[in-house]
Amino acid sequence: MKMDVGKYMKKLEGLKTVLTTPKKIVITTHSRPDADALGSSLGLMLFLKKLHHQVDVITPTGYPDFLKWMKGEDQVMVYTNGNEEKAVQRVNEADLIFCLDFSALSRIDKLGDVVGEAKGDKVLIDHHLEPEDFAKYALHSIKAASTAELIYQFICEIGGCDLVDVDIAECLYAGINTDTGSFRHSNVTKTVFDVSAALVEKGADTSKVAKLIYDTNSENRLRLLGYALSENLIVLSEYNTAYFALSEKILKKFNAQMGDTEGLVNYALSIKGIKLAALFKESDDGIKMSFRSVNSFSVNELARTHFNGGGHKNAAGGKSEMSLEDTVHKFENLLKKYKIELTTEN
Ligand code: 5GP
Ligand code: MN
Repeated sequence: MKMDVGKYMKKLEGLKTVLTTPKKIVITTHSRPDADALGSSLGLMLFLKKLHHQVDVITPTGYPDFLKWMKGEDQVMVYTNGNEEKAVQRVNEADLIFCLDFSALSRIDKLGDVVGEAKGDKVLIDHHLEPEDFAKYALHSIKAASTAELIYQFICEIGGCDLVDVDIAECLYAGINTDTGSFRHSNVTKTVFDVSAALVEKGADTSKVAKLIYDTNSENRLRLLGYALSENLIVLSEYNTAYFALSEKILKKFNAQMGDTEGLVNYALSIKGIKLAALFKESDDGIKMSFRSVNSFSVNELARTHFNGGGHKNAAGGKSEMSLEDTVHKFENLLKKYKIELTTEN
């Protein structure tokens, strides 16, 4: 399938030949993997295994339970689950290291230095802004709505389209579905539908995947959502901004698990007129932020400049080592600087 991926960087020359003989391959993706990160990694792993390669998927951290239905998930090596030594060894021994769904090595935490220094050739497949130049091979497009979409194109590009089975298709479809906000975000293009249609043709059950991702809430998660919406949401109409700031105490009260706040920030963005939404989450590691915006306001720029982060124009994240209160205070002060952008029609 030939598809226009828009503005992209494509350096795949020679990789198809490299993959014609069995290789030791590591696939890694960003910390706290989401459906795109894990779905892309497992979809690619299942495909490369069909080509008789030895493949390890190594994630820097664990991931939410609602992703654990994906085929091959039981083979994932989570670095922080006591696998530090083994993971480093596999990375160092690998002929090829696929880096999926991130564009800066800092996004894979401690594995960043290990991957950066490893002798194996790196392959970047990603759709985040401003990619670092660490890969010998790359398929990168900021026009792609998801990395999963690029993985499908990559597989077809190297002549493996016929090897995509229902398990691979469902892993990749999960990434496309979530990174497009169930086909609602402005990143949805004809290519998104073309690839999705191709995956359905391969047998992906879209209703099953949606149910596994969205309709497997715990009671605690739903009650946390209720609390956040009624007690925690702050709306600053003057700046067309709304945010949540969840303390560790509150998260503990609702026994919040990884992934339980996923999607929460979108509720703040769903308020009529809101252009910027944020979620601040306190943990042992400091404050983690999610930012979302509409139209031309770039949360990538906001996160990159002020919160040690990055991402996409309308969806980005960052972190802070200040207290929750101070981080929120910094954010509110910054809104003054961005007031014109936040309040003019565009
Ligand atoms: P989320 O808010 O869903 O965690 O992330 C939104 C987007 O921003 C994703 O594409 C994610 O990869 C990216 N992102 C999240 N946190 C960070 C971060 O700390 N640094 C960078 N560079 N990107 C991030
Ligand atoms: Mn992604």
